[in-house]
Amino acid sequence: MDFLERFIDSIGRGTHTLSVKTDEVIELTEMKMNIRGIEEEIEEHKLYIGEIVYKYYTEEKAHMPTSEIKRRCMEIRRLERKLNMMKERMVRKRGFGYCKNCGEIIKKKQNYCPRCGNRALKY
Ligand SMILES: [Zn+2]
Repeated sequence: MDFLERFIDSIGRGTHTLSVKTDEVIELTEMKMNIRGIEEEIEEHKLYIGEIVYKYYTEEKAHMPTSEIKRRCMEIRRLERKLNMMKERMVRKRGFGYCKNCGEIIKKKQNYCPRCGNRALKY
């Protein structure tokens, strides 16, 4: 291989590495977005349950719709399992950890959680 060939080859490899890294960043961003989406879904269910219960206590005639509450609780549990699986996959694959306090995905090197400020979050 002469100089020019080596040069072209190295550019090719450099570009390849760059695109792999870009793909990783995109994948990571997508995973984070999915995780955030599920977290929001869980919060919505919890909020809804809270409103039902509050209504039950403030309006004398309202009856507690237990079947709806149960359905929502089961859905939350299902989403939480999904969430944990996604997080564990991400942590195993990429050397990330997550905050045991709020669940934010963080790099293992980070000393504090950027979302809640919790300290030392080694998984
Ligand atoms: Zn946190």
